[in-house]
Amino acid sequence: MRWWGWGEDGHEVSLPQPALELLRDELGADPSQRRGPVALEEVRLEPSRLARAARERLAAAVGAEHVRDDREARVAHAAGRGYADLVRLRSGDGSSAPDAVVTPGSADQVRAVLSACAEARVAVVPFGGGTSVVGGVEPVSDGFEAAVTLDVGRLDRVLDVDRASLTAKLEAGLLGPEAERQLGEHGLTLGHFPQSFEYSTVGGWVATRSAGQASSGYGRIDELVEGLRLLAPAGELTARALPASAAGPDLRELVIGSEGVLGVICEATLQVRPAPRARRYEGWSFRSFAEGCEAFRVMEQAGAAPDVARLSDEEETRLSLALAASGSAAQRAGRAYLRLRGHEGGCLAIAGFEGDQDDVERRRLRSAALLRAGGGVALGRKPGAAWLRNRYSGPYLRDELLDRGLLVETLETATGWSNLAPLYQAVGNALRGALAESGTPPLVMCHVSHLYRSGASLYFTFLAREAEAPLEQWRAAKSAASEAIVAAGGTITHHHAVGRDHAPWMRAEVGELGLDLIRAAKRRLDPAGIMNPGKLLPD
Ligand SMILES: Cc1cc2nc3c(=O)[nH]c(=O)nc-3n(C[C@H](O)[C@H](O)[C@H](O)COP(=O)(O)OP(=O)(O)OC[C@H]3O[C@@H](n4cnc5c(N)ncnc54)[C@H](O)[C@@H]3O)c2cc1C
Repeated sequence: MRWWGWGEDGHEVSLPQPALELLRDELGADPSQRRGPVALEEVRLEPSRLARAARERLAAAVGAEHVRDDREARVAHAAGRGYADLVRLRSGDGSSAPDAVVTPGSADQVRAVLSACAEARVAVVPFGGGTSVVGGVEPVSDGFEAAVTLDVGRLDRVLDVDRASLTAKLEAGLLGPEAERQLGEHGLTLGHFPQSFEYSTVGGWVATRSAGQASSGYGRIDELVEGLRLLAPAGELTARALPASAAGPDLRELVIGSEGVLGVICEATLQVRPAPRARRYEGWSFRSFAEGCEAFRVMEQAGAAPDVARLSDEEETRLSLALAASGSAAQRAGRAYLRLRGHEGGCLAIAGFEGDQDDVERRRLRSAALLRAGGGVALGRKPGAAWLRNRYSGPYLRDELLDRGLLVETLETATGWSNLAPLYQAVGNALRGALAESGTPPLVMCHVSHLYRSGASLYFTFLAREAEAPLEQWRAAKSAASEAIVAAGGTITHHHAVGRDHAPWMRAEVGELGLDLIRAAKRRLDPAGIMNPGKLLPD
């Protein structure tokens, strides 16, 4: 992946003309302004502080060619892919780069690396795809001799596929597309498709409790984990793959979501399913976000939710339609139809079904009946197909927005159905208030993306004209939204995890005793405290 953005060189995308006009009209973005990242050679880096003896021990553990402290490796592992990460990297700030990057090729080598680092008091940052958006992979080395990033990219094998049990044992460094490709050879799928799918890893998903776009149907990653292997400085913690067990507290739950602070997840045994033979994605319209939320609640609680269920609020719908404003005659006719049905200014929803043909058809009809009863108007397959086509395209456009001097960021939360509307209002208001000083009002939009029997997630995207001090502007917005989430009873994160950015709100999330329990587990597994310092736990 590019060190300063998303995707690889050669995969360029540009904003369509209607989008540029909208950004000019609504945010005052100057269409002629373009400001790319500095060159790699201009990124400011401190000299590596890794002592020669520690470096030699690491080289002995993994092979000299797998311990790198060159500029390219250090900058590529300096940060994740949140807005603040990209602002710092693009401006040439490499102050968070690790002192070296170590890439072990086996669990035994991971063990040797952890032992060398514990003895030399070197902090270790586990690194999967580096797509964290909460500061999860940014090295923090205060109080340590140095910090190394442990990149699991060479642990990339499918170790076992159990067709009868429908489970697969995967190494942590497998990237999404490769995992799906290899499972596909067995006629299987994991069904885990976060928007970062192309660049995130199995280990990263488990370490962050990630949720894929189809997790309403296939389940979040934490629901799919059957077994685990964690290598910690103090030893190995293995949870055998079992369908169920009553043997005390479930230690898998300690490892899932541990964000590298307890050790390195080397393998995970995950539930898989037969690859779907049929897919059907369709669009729906609701008169309002409130109406759509209520229809989704009824559908979910009737056990009739699609595998992908998304409902955009009025603002997100308005902006996505505006981007297609110069569209075809069919799109214009579609808009006229919605006007006629009293849905002008309403909300777009996507319902996606995967499985066997008969199963998809049966489930689709049941969901459709409930959505229609809830006020929905069916828009047919085109909006669904367009969503499926573009499901990974958002982050590519983000680079272009940053080039044009815009702040663009996302955050997410979840709560019970009865609290969804107040939480939605509170977070939206907090973001609009914090970003009001940008000169022009920000664009704050939201969608519901994951359904549960008791509630749903809310995913906010916000855009504003970048201020003189963009990192302070971002911090003010992030803090205001986080405070609003906590005050309104939401979770500080539904799937992005805690990292550095959400750590200050963990006390509110789990309480003092809860924090002590996590700290106690960390002390036992990582007595020297070298594992990913500064993440998950508040100072
Ligand atoms: C554009 C974009 C879209 C995204 N969309 C989604 C989405 O739809 N759903 C979602 O849930 N998230 C999403 N994310 C967030 C991110 O992709 C997820 O958190 C993902 O699970 C991280 O995987 P990774 O392999 O990149 O992990 P990394 O970013 O490398 O690491 C994340 C955290 O896990 C730790 N870690 C990584 N690997 C291991 C390991 N093997 N052992 C122990 N600790 C480890 C790291 O130390 C770090 O704390 C998105 C991010 C971006 C940039």
